[in-house]
Amino acid sequence: MNVFSHPEFDNHEQVSFVSDPETGLRAIIAIHNTSRGPALGGCRMFPYASDEEALRDVLRLSRGMTYKSALANLDLGGGKSVIIGDPRQHKTEAMLEAMGRCLEKLGGHYIAAEDSGTSVADLQVMARHTRHVAGITSRPGFDGAPSDGDPSPVTAYGVFVGLKAAVQHGLGRTDLTGLKVAIQGIGNVGYRLARHLKDAGAELWVYDIHQEQMDRAVAELGATPATAEEILLLPVDVVAPCAMGAILNDESIPKLQARVIAGAANNQLAEARHDRALQQRGILYAPDFVLNAGGIIDVAHERTDQDPTKVRAHVDAIADTLGEIFTRSQRDQRPTGEIADELAEERFRRAPRRSTATANKVASVG
Ligand code: NAD
Repeated sequence: MNVFSHPEFDNHEQVSFVSDPETGLRAIIAIHNTSRGPALGGCRMFPYASDEEALRDVLRLSRGMTYKSALANLDLGGGKSVIIGDPRQHKTEAMLEAMGRCLEKLGGHYIAAEDSGTSVADLQVMARHTRHVAGITSRPGFDGAPSDGDPSPVTAYGVFVGLKAAVQHGLGRTDLTGLKVAIQGIGNVGYRLARHLKDAGAELWVYDIHQEQMDRAVAELGATPATAEEILLLPVDVVAPCAMGAILNDESIPKLQARVIAGAANNQLAEARHDRALQQRGILYAPDFVLNAGGIIDVAHERTDQDPTKVRAHVDAIADTLGEIFTRSQRDQRPTGEIADELAEERFRRAPRRSTATANKVASVG
């Protein structure tokens, strides 16, 4: 298996393959860039079909975290870890403890957080052996409600903030009353986004592969149920993808009727070129990694000031970053995703590279 010549390898600073035969742990930890600070990113557990698939995922996701944190103006770099295995079958406390010991050996260059296949409780088990985990402290949430470390409420609020900014720029309106929004995926983030939109007066269409999620949105939010085939293609103002990636592709883009795409799902563009395809159709795409940064912003504050008002102000600034992206995109007639990447690169490439000592000091805060 090639690493340096892997298509997803992007001059990652460190890629560690870790194993613990006694517990069955096999994991890959990728640190993409630490120019702005220690690499923080989720620890995912997934039954990858091959080591190659796991490597591809961790290389791609860790790079994404560098861009996301830089655009969110956080003093953090980008990293990610993947544990190879089915979380429902293979996850044990001993395995998580072994992962904690591996994280500790990296000395704080990488800090793990919750991700798909791992929970706050799992991270707390890892924390028995390392300080280098995040998103595990109970504290007042950004909205005043108690938070157990689940990033979804903050992520959903950030997506709402970003969606409003996109609507203002793309449709020239600040009042969401009667705004028609189709949401794909009514899970932790999608449902909360739907509630924000409902409270702001928007009209909702929803689709989720799980009927009970749909039923809840229909019963509690007055949403109109849609089918899998039609949810992205409805004659609405905004499509908010909140389920899975690669849904903006050669098949869907020519048929989209919405003028704005703004949702939480990671990697919505099937390929980078689809960014331009959307622009050519006059559809304003709010880059997903700008919109869904609320969770990482929250985790970053957990490690420093833990002040809910600061978290909220920081998440509100997603609108300013998007404004900068939209303005540049319009000025240069270039797609928004390309501009977002460029802006992130300006931010992390110009940051002075931190020494190990500095990174460790930052990592030990909290
Ligand atoms: P979730 O698992 O709680 O919700 C996803 C929902 O999508 C589920 O209800 C699921 O049934 C539904 N779904 C799955 N496949 C679908 C399909 N083909 N069509 C329609 N619905 C489908 O996840 P979440 O935490 O709400 O995250 C949603 C998206 O946002 C994911 O892409 C995630 O990576 C991204 N994201 C989440 C966070 C966070 O803080 N939770 C942060 C950043 C990005």
